[in-house]
Amino acid sequence: MQQVVQEILSDQYADSASLRGWLFSVLVDGKFIDDQITKSPIRKGSSQWVNCSESADITQAATDHLARIQQLGDVVALYTALDDLTRLNTPSLTQDSFAGLTEQQSWQAANEFLAGGKFNVLIVGAGPVGLLLASALKQAFNNQINILLLENRVSTLHHKLPYERRWITNVPCVVLHGLVEDILLEIFNKVGAGGNIGCNINVLESLLLLSCRRLGVKFLFVENSDSPLLQNSAVQMVFDASGNRFQPPLWPHPLNLSTFQTKVETTLLGFNSGSYLAYGITITPTRQNRDISLYAYNNLTFPLYKNKPVKLAMLKIINIPAAMYGILVSYIARCNIDNKFYIWKGTLQAEVNQVIVIVSLSKTEYDHLCKHYDYPLRLAEAIKTEAFVMAMDKRTITLLNMLADQEILHEPIMLDAPFLYEPYFVNRATADQFQGRPLVRVGDSIYNGNVKLGNGLTPHIQHVKHIQATLQKFLS
Ligand SMILES: Cc1cc2nc3c(=O)[nH]c(=O)nc-3n(C[C@H](O)[C@H](O)[C@H](O)COP(=O)(O)OP(=O)(O)OC[C@H]3O[C@@H](n4cnc5c(N)ncnc54)[C@H](O)[C@@H]3O)c2cc1C
Repeated sequence: MQQVVQEILSDQYADSASLRGWLFSVLVDGKFIDDQITKSPIRKGSSQWVNCSESADITQAATDHLARIQQLGDVVALYTALDDLTRLNTPSLTQDSFAGLTEQQSWQAANEFLAGGKFNVLIVGAGPVGLLLASALKQAFNNQINILLLENRVSTLHHKLPYERRWITNVPCVVLHGLVEDILLEIFNKVGAGGNIGCNINVLESLLLLSCRRLGVKFLFVENSDSPLLQNSAVQMVFDASGNRFQPPLWPHPLNLSTFQTKVETTLLGFNSGSYLAYGITITPTRQNRDISLYAYNNLTFPLYKNKPVKLAMLKIINIPAAMYGILVSYIARCNIDNKFYIWKGTLQAEVNQVIVIVSLSKTEYDHLCKHYDYPLRLAEAIKTEAFVMAMDKRTITLLNMLADQEILHEPIMLDAPFLYEPYFVNRATADQFQGRPLVRVGDSIYNGNVKLGNGLTPHIQHVKHIQATLQKFLS
């Protein structure tokens, strides 16, 4: 097992992928990086979940949902059905494999499942990467592997909250070949354009959950993923797919700047000076010194810009109809010297495609947005609010007014919760341990991508492919 783990860790994709995101952030957003910003809690609006009747056999129900969606030919009907799927609060989408048992009984049943002379794997975190890993391992090993997937975003024991992140993705379908069932690729190819998945992350997660269910992956939805009962199980390998929440590394406090640092030149990124009109931004690598230093502390590395940790607050405007793209680009071209706005034209089929605008925020804007509103926030509501208009940069208000009456497929334009990009990279020279088993990090448990560069999900999925190939090499 030691050798298998070492080979998995030898895939050093994350070193360069994470670095690209850091360099990109200082080149594009140097004006907005502010180490004084502190992460604030987000106020969430009430969610509206929908019930529907489905087979009492949860595996059959998963198959039925996928078959129903697969046969939709019309892109608008398909997109709407996918969106509706994410709002379902039905057992196939929100209930685990141990319903009816107490927590203790559930762990005991999970242990029994994880025995039996097969390769036994525990995955912590049922986000996109955890689900993709489970799917990839089932594709490779089918009945020769037992997979238990834990998720702690629960309403009660056994009940997961529906997936909510309505963020369009930028992942080419080709990277999923061999990792997911063909039916999923068929659906992605129909709704995405140019060979991309295109759809929201919560759609990707919901489809993967249904698929994993029928491939025989077992789920346990429980608040505490660290049960001592696991010690007696036959788990051979643990994957941390928790987005770096399960065993997060310690951050140094305060910074000791005499600690080991390496300087990295932003020119490494290889961008030419110029205007990246399609995104509304300008990149000027040589205009001023925008190099970063890397700060290493135990197994954690993160970038310093001007000797301070990189912290960048942003706001995402979602559901913008694709027809607005040209209008937005020409508006932004006139007023974006500091790269406050970043525009991405989306990769869904034309009938359903949408644009997102990412707005970099000052500390004052970020604090105001976190403190006063519930998210997601309707754009129409926001611009009616005097305090909002007073707090935000005038250019943002002009842009929001341009979008005020727009909607796509009856979905109004929304402001998604403001967020903070605090980049990190967790060094994996040797595997961590969990209850005496090797603990292998995947996805955002290794590093977080820069949303504007889109350097997160796709490289993480390629790493899943590497894990699949490595396990096939050693265990087949
Ligand atoms: C604010 C923000 C905006 C983004 N916008 C976009 C975008 O528009 N498009 C895009 O493609 N990408 C975007 N990304 C990047 C994308 O979200 C990540 O690449 C992706 O979510 C990483 O997937 P993951 O499965 O590694 O981690 P996550 O998505 O974080 O999933 C981790 C899962 O583990 C669960 N979990 C956490 N702790 C535990 C525990 N202790 N036990 C059990 N379960 C646990 C969580 O509930 C979650 O379900 C964004 C990221 C952020 C932070």
